[in-house]
This record gives sequence, structure tokens and C-alpha cells, in this order.
Amino acid sequence: MERTFAIIKPNAFIAGNAGKIIARISAEGFSIIGLKKLYLSKREAEGFYYVHKDKPFFGELTDFMSSGPCIVMVLEAKDAIKKWRDLMGATNPANAAEGTLRREFGDSLEANATHGSDAPETAAFEISYFFSGLELL
Ligand code: ATP
Ligand code: MG
Repeated sequence: MERTFAIIKPNAFIAGNAGKIIARISAEGFSIIGLKKLYLSKREAEGFYYVHKDKPFFGELTDFMSSGPCIVMVLEAKDAIKKWRDLMGATNPANAAEGTLRREFGDSLEANATHGSDAPETAAFEISYFFSGLELL
């Protein structure tokens, strides 16, 4: 089994779609190992997206991520990292396939409803950024 890290972003939370996304996660066979709602500060969002600090969209992305509540989760499944990215769909909702979460709940490239780790190393960093070992028992 593999673990990945997921976020329900503020646009999806504010629109009232968190419950539908969590139901879909369960229906697709992930185990939810950790889950909490939080409201990121700008500084916390900048720390999370540190790898993108030199990108032109860094300021807007971290403003958006600290504009409302998020739900952060640790998901477990066989090949969880790829399985979750497949369920999310393409980064830009306009390019995301029918049946994916970003197609259904994404509003724009930035407000694309969900986040998912892209590799085992990033999953380990992202999980530890938000969860202690005790929260994942
Ligand atoms: P995520 O890391 O959120 O799962 P991703 O791996 O598909 O998405 P990244 O390239 O890591 O995409 O970009 C991180 C986030 O930054 C994207 O989810 C998106 O919201 C935002 N983003 C990416 N490219 C752009 C862009 N050109 N303009 C604005 N926002 C962008
Ligand atoms: Mg990414």
C-alpha cells in the first residue's frame, strides 16, 4: 500500500463540494488515514508551495490557497499517488477528462478543486507538513 497527500482547495470547500469529493474518494477505494479542515495563512501556503516559489503564479496561488478553508487528507491505496492524480484529472480543468474531479469541481487553473502529491518524496514532505505520526494511527 502507498500513501499520498490530498487537498480539497478553498473553491471546492466554499462551493459545498467537499462532501461529494470525500464520498468519491471512498467509492474509488482509498482509505482515509488522516483528515482535517484548516484555514492556511499566506505564510503556511508559501511553505507548502515552496517548490513553486520562483514561478510567476506563486503569489496568486498562495493568495488563493489562503483565501478560505481547505481539507487536507492522507489517502492510502495501491499506487495511491498515481491513482489520486488520475482521479483528479489534468491540472487545468478545461483539459480534464470527463469523470475526473477537476472537470466536475474545478473553476480555473488556479481554483482547480484539488491537490495531489506528484511523487513519493513530495508525498512524504507534504504529509509531514500537515500531520504528525500520532494523527495517522
Ligand atoms: P497540484 O500540485 O496542485 O496537484 P499539479 O501538480 O497538477 O497540481 P503544479 O504544476 O504542481 O500542478 O502546480 C501547482 C498548482 O499551481 C496547480 O494545481 C494550479 O492550481 C496552480 N498553477 C499551475 N500552473 C499555473 C499557472 N500557469 N497559472 C496559475 N496557476 C497555476
Ligand atoms: Mg504539483
